[in-house]
This record gives sequence, C-alpha cells and structure tokens, in this order.
Amino acid sequence: MQKKSIKYIFVVGGVMSGVGKGIASSSIGKILQARGFEVTALKIDPYVNVDAGTMNPTEHGEVFVLDDGTECDQDMGNYERFLNRDLTGKNYMTTGSVYLSVIQKERNLEFGGKCVSVVPNIPLEIISRLKCAAEVAKADIVITEVGGTVGEYQNILFLEAIRMLKVHNPGDVLVVLVSFVPALGAGGNELKTKPTQYAARSLNSAGLQADIIIARAKMALDAKRKEKIAENCNISEKDVISAPDEKNIYEIPLNFEKDNLSTVILKKLNIKPRATDLKEWRKLIEKMENAKYTSQIAIVGKYFGSGDFFLTDSYISVLEAIKHAGAVVGVNPSVKWIDSEEFEKQPQKLKELSVYDGIIIPGGFGSRGIEGKISVIKYCRENKIPYFGLCYGMQLAVTEYARHMAGMKVANTTEINSKTPFPVVDIMPEQKKNLKDKNFGATMRLGAYPAVLKKGSVAFSAYGVSEISERHRHRYEVNPEFIGKLEEAGLVFSGTSPDGRLMEIAELPHSKHPFFLGTQFHPELKSRPLNPHPLFVAFMKACVGKK
Ligand code: GLN
Repeated sequence: MQKKSIKYIFVVGGVMSGVGKGIASSSIGKILQARGFEVTALKIDPYVNVDAGTMNPTEHGEVFVLDDGTECDQDMGNYERFLNRDLTGKNYMTTGSVYLSVIQKERNLEFGGKCVSVVPNIPLEIISRLKCAAEVAKADIVITEVGGTVGEYQNILFLEAIRMLKVHNPGDVLVVLVSFVPALGAGGNELKTKPTQYAARSLNSAGLQADIIIARAKMALDAKRKEKIAENCNISEKDVISAPDEKNIYEIPLNFEKDNLSTVILKKLNIKPRATDLKEWRKLIEKMENAKYTSQIAIVGKYFGSGDFFLTDSYISVLEAIKHAGAVVGVNPSVKWIDSEEFEKQPQKLKELSVYDGIIIPGGFGSRGIEGKISVIKYCRENKIPYFGLCYGMQLAVTEYARHMAGMKVANTTEINSKTPFPVVDIMPEQKKNLKDKNFGATMRLGAYPAVLKKGSVAFSAYGVSEISERHRHRYEVNPEFIGKLEEAGLVFSGTSPDGRLMEIAELPHSKHPFFLGTQFHPELKSRPLNPHPLFVAFMKACVGKK
C-alpha cells in the first residue's frame, strides 16, 4: 500500500505582530477537521528560550502547559480549544530547542564527522520535527504557525525549512500569509492594501510565494481590495480571505467559510473534499450569543502596570474557560480585573465586591498583593460569594482558612514567609534542591497528574467521576503536617493524589457555602468550548444561583 502523503499548511504573519495568526491557524484547523480530516497544529516560537517556562507572562502572555509538562505559548491553548485535542511537546518548538538538539546530536557524534552548518542542518532538524509531530498525531493535515513577522531576521531559518520541504513535496505544502490591512481616511473606513503587498514580497525574497492571503482588517474586504491584493501578490481573488474583527473568536472559522476557505485549501492540496459538519460548533456560538443573563465575575490579581489588554493575555485560558462554562449555563460572563493591592491600601473597598456574582483568584507567583488576595478570600468566605481559587488561589485559600478558622494566626505559604511557625503551604523537598542550584527551567510540578475525589464532595458532584487527571505548574504544595488541623476546622480536601500525599482540591461543603473551592492544578488549561471544564461549570452555576 502506498503511504498517504501528509499535507503541510504554514501560517506566517505579515506587516506586524498580533494580527491573529494563532486564531487563524486554529480556525483553519477547525474547518478542515469539520470536513472529516485529522488535523494537528504546531507552534514555532522564534525565541532562543528553550521553552516558554522562563518567559514573563506580562510580556509574552500566558504560559500554557500540556499534559506532558511542556511549557509553551498560549497559542497552543487555542489549538487545543478549537481542535478539542490534547497536544504534546512535539507540537511546539523554539529556535533554542532546535539548536539545542542539533548541538546535542553533534556532541553525540551523530553527524559522522561532517561539518554541521546552520543551513541545511537547522532547517533539516525543523523538518524532521514537523514530520515527527505529524506521525505522533496520525494527522492528515499539519498546520504550523511560524511566530514573528515575515521580513524579520528571527524566523528566517523556519521559512527556509518551509522552502526546502516544498521543493521536495511541491503538492503537499501550502503557505498562508495572515496580513494586516489598516483602515485610514476620515471615517476610518478606507482599507489600505500596500503593507500587505510589501509583506507578500518580503515572503518572496525568502523564496516563498503565499498561496492564500488572510486579510485581517476592521471589516470584511470589498471586491476592489481583494482584486488589488490578488493582482499585486500573484494570487487569485478567491484566494484572498477576509478576516474582519470579531468579538467572539469562535465565530472566526464560520467567517472563513463564508469565503470558502476550506474548499480553497483542499483544492490547492489536491485533497478530495468531504462534507462539512460544523453543526455542534454553530450551536455553541448560538448559545454564547443568546445567553439570557449576564454574570459579573471579578478576577483578582496583581496589577501588571500594563493595562487590561496584557492582563487578558496573561490569563487567556481562565477567560476562555469562563466563556465555555457560561455557554453551558446560559449566561454571558462580564469579567472585571481587580488589583488586589487596592484592598491592602483601602480595606473598606472589600464591600464593593458584593456586586459580583463570583470571584476568581488565578495562578501567580511572588509576594505582591498577597495580603489583599487573602482579605478578598476571607470576604468571599464570610459573605457567601462564590469563590474559585486556581493554584495560587487555592494555596491562599488554605492560608486564609488556617489563619482565621484554624487558629494559626500567622499561617503563611513559605513563598511569602519562610520563617512562619505555620508553613501551611510549603515547597516540596525535590524543588528545594533546584532552587538552591539556581536551576529554574522546567523545575516545577508540571503537566498532568491523576487525583482521586472524595464521594459526596462539591468536586465529586461536579465531575461525576472519582478519578481525574489535571495539569499542574507550581513549586509549592499544601503542607501535610497541617492537614489534620485544617480538616478539624472544617476545610475539606476533596481531591488528593492517589497516594493521598498531595492535596489537589480544597473546598467547603455545600451546606456551609454556595461555592468555595480551590484547585492546586490549573483546570482552565483543559477547558474546551465543546468540552467545558466541570469545575468552571459548577462555579458559573453557583454564580447564577447568587442572583
Ligand atoms: N506560586 C505558587 C507555586 O509555585 C503557585 C503557582 C501558580 O499559581 N501557578 O506553587
């Protein structure tokens, strides 16, 4: 039997960063998957960092974590959400990781004494990784997003890899340029195609021709603009796809189909088309758009000093998980960001929290704003406002409970105070050594770990099963020494590692609070629009209940 040929679609960006390559790649994946093909998606980050674990989320956005513990770019989260697939580390690479493996191979004498060169050895390593990811995912079609913008120095070796792959497999490789089309003029409605024309030429100078151009703009392109792009960029008008700004990102695959994108792609790749099934997806969007009520949700974090946009990017999975659960419950979540330091300076402001239907404290590191967060948790607990703590948000809930309910007034996490007599959250012994050695990369508890749930608990009734697997990214854990005291005071550890050693979920019983629950893991990383996370659903239900 002849081996089927795998098709490769590359998504590159033109004009500037932030044009939405990640959502475009995810949406292309979705519409091809909807046509019955097995699709996988890869992200290439041009950074020298080996993974995203050492990158600052305020600059680079959220660090996403896969089941296998890979710390990667937030776009990997978009792929998982749109495709509803668990991806692996094989789907992520950075310049640093590529060089690292080429250098390791050289040290292992794997190049047989030959001179190892930037070209072709780096592009060849990239190509072999693409093929490996395709195999692992058993994919018919592989979508690869190349970070950065065409014309910059950083991603040139990745473009070279695409060129080489295409030379050897001309019918199997497609290049999609996602470009920005600015709107100028008095009314701000005059779309300008010239920057896109330059981007297409820039791509030409790397030896690549765009097969399809996705034009990201304030509005859909008119026929004239499509014609201009087509004529000047060597493609046909039907290969110019409009990507107007869209409030709900899950609409974008449907927008692409308005311009017949999946048909255009399949034809170019010489794949026999199959019928499209986007029924479930459309239903989801209808639910999102026809929600009857609005839920006011506050996310309390530390202020990054960069405005709401960056905050949104740092917690994108939390926001998406809220939306997914909102669709199930039939509410439209309205999310407000609150700086926890406000409550340290002005404790009387805590009362203002009573307008919210629910409060989330997400993951975080370090000491800034911590006392403010603890006072928010106390307020939620005492005033029966639904509270959901994610990782740090759980550790601080345990700290709060220890201080105010279990008689350990100065309890703390040792992340904040290493000398507290009540270290209710403490670093794991295996991490202590890493910190001492200043070895910070990938040294946390990372990736998927199993947990068992206590029958009759809030968590158990949300999941409906007693064994779960969730994703982690943290160094500290609830200290086993204090479990007995905390339980006596009424806190329930409803989820633990199978050996009972690590506390995975802390909660108050339903009879005591409408929803007060924290997870040591990050449930937001596993929520998908078509598969919302049970704990987010339970939280959103409680928020509706508050009304
Ligand atoms: N700073 C905490 C820890 O390292 C929590 C981490 C997080 O919220 N991801 O354990």
